[in-house]
Amino acid sequence: MPDTAIQDLSAPYDRPLQQDLDRCVHCGLCLNACPTYRELGLEMDSPRGRIYQMVQVAEGNLAINEEYVEHIDLCLACRACETACPSGVQYGKLVEAARGQIDANRRLPWWQRLLRWFVFDRLLTSPFLLKVTGYKLWVLQKSGLQRLVRRLGILKLFGHLAEIEALSPAVETPFFFDKVGKVFPAEGETRRRVAFLAGCIANISFARMNEATVRVLQKNGCEVTLPPDQGCCGALQVHAGLRELGRRQAKRNIEAFESGNFDAVITNAAGCGSVVKEYPELFEHDPEWHERAQAFSSKVRDVTEFLAGIDLNRSLAPIPARVTYQDSCHLLHGQKVRTPPRVMLAAIPALEFRELPLSEICCGSAGVYNVEHTDMSMALLEKKMQMAGTTGADTIVTANPGCMLQLRVGAERFGSGQRVMHVVELLDESYRKAESKQAVRSEHPRERFSLARLWLPRDRSSDWPAARPRVRFSLKQLWLLLAGLETGVLAGSAVLLYWILATTLSGEGPWAILNLIGSTFFPARALTAGFSHASVSGAALHVLLSGVVGVVASLLLILYVARPVRSLWVGMLIGVIWYLAAFLWIWPLLSSAVVTYAPRPTMLVGHVLFGLGLGLYPFFVRRLGMS
Ligand code: SF4
Ligand code: SF4
Repeated sequence: MPDTAIQDLSAPYDRPLQQDLDRCVHCGLCLNACPTYRELGLEMDSPRGRIYQMVQVAEGNLAINEEYVEHIDLCLACRACETACPSGVQYGKLVEAARGQIDANRRLPWWQRLLRWFVFDRLLTSPFLLKVTGYKLWVLQKSGLQRLVRRLGILKLFGHLAEIEALSPAVETPFFFDKVGKVFPAEGETRRRVAFLAGCIANISFARMNEATVRVLQKNGCEVTLPPDQGCCGALQVHAGLRELGRRQAKRNIEAFESGNFDAVITNAAGCGSVVKEYPELFEHDPEWHERAQAFSSKVRDVTEFLAGIDLNRSLAPIPARVTYQDSCHLLHGQKVRTPPRVMLAAIPALEFRELPLSEICCGSAGVYNVEHTDMSMALLEKKMQMAGTTGADTIVTANPGCMLQLRVGAERFGSGQRVMHVVELLDESYRKAESKQAVRSEHPRERFSLARLWLPRDRSSDWPAARPRVRFSLKQLWLLLAGLETGVLAGSAVLLYWILATTLSGEGPWAILNLIGSTFFPARALTAGFSHASVSGAALHVLLSGVVGVVASLLLILYVARPVRSLWVGMLIGVIWYLAAFLWIWPLLSSAVVTYAPRPTMLVGHVLFGLGLGLYPFFVRRLGMS
């Protein structure tokens, strides 16, 4: 890494400011609050030590070298030191600026740059790519492949990969993206109009939590709007030092929310809330956007903070659980919100609250920290779970999705399998229990795959109030089509791969291609020509290609004629009609085989079954949250 102490390539507003550094008087009162210092006992990994290094860089005495980057990167940005500091040092602001300065001055390997660009610039900011990723994860998780890989322990062969994979969120369908752009009316009299910032990853992996948040707000007399143009808040980008990307997301959200004249903008993710409240810090060099950011950020409230500030609806049913609360760093230290979550828990009848010792110390989640510094993260998590164990609580509650993921891993690995929830989920459970007067069951967590649920149209009337219809074109249509095409392409590739491998290995030689073509166009030939790899794969290819035509035709019909498909039977009928049309007419016509084509009864049965499968295809799509 070049010595950049002399020539600093960062913008003057994207490096630690001298007046902020000067606030530190090096008293050391923050040391004991710092998780990395408590773990390692090294001055350079303490807040005071890190500030000292930033000063040295600012004065040109220290290069932005590997060692410096390591100490800054190992910081969790939990900001516990900020709470402990009597001199008012804004450590969060300093460390984010230091990371921006590092990013501007270092040259990462091309693959790291590519990965960072894809994750921070493309994936997190694109609902479409997030949906595609969610869909692929869903297949991985529901097919049992993820469980199998975990059981076999294959990933343990690749360093920390097993631990990192364990942190991957469970996908929850249907995705919450479907709700963005809608307005949900208040229950009873409308007392407030609020907007909800739904986040990015939360839309696919905390969809039920987001729904619970909206319901709780409705219960409390709020009309909840989800502005359609909102996006990722930019927190992960800012924490990674990508401040320009953070600014871009900030501008997008300010524009999306500012015209609504809302009473408040609500978040349920402490990490997002903290950055969104501090948008003005990103625009200190830009008076126009600074002013707009200030107006927007002044309305942002964490959901617990907001509920604690209004007259809470007390129609809550008892929840006889032993509950402890882990402070989310970005709520406690970033937003200085300590009491409201506890007030919310105290409002739930029969709930036994047990304070968690050292709840103000980070659990080791810290955005993507647990992926980048897994050893430190797991060490902190283990201690956290030991503390949680001393409370005897059966439920651990927190206020940030990232902390929830981390604590769920902790409960499995180091704990006693405690239930991990967001405060607002527990409130929602209590409201719903009061409403239904029925036994409470956990609402979240992982949806179990069940064939019956695919067959039975889901009745959402009891758990999801109707939203005002949105009259505008939706990307869902394109998404449905792509999902169908992707399935066809994947299956087609598998068949072709099989054919290439099989004919190569069996030595059928160049004649195999003629066999393949013959069997593809004349599937009956495959049965009479005797068993061979080419004839079997040819027949399979025929069925597949007909199927792809049928799938695409079904989707087109659903999209443009019969949308939305609400009934199982309509879906099946469409699939069967189009499959038969494709099979009996379109495909033979294309292959010039109309005259010679003569399906046998056994093939017909197979085709009818396949047609039924196609008919069910829209329901698989619906279960994936895409329709
Ligand atoms: S950050 Fe605050 S508490 Fe820590 S050494 Fe500096 S002045 Fe003291
Ligand atoms: S932000 Fe957290 S980890 Fe970083 S120096 Fe402060 S207390 Fe330590």
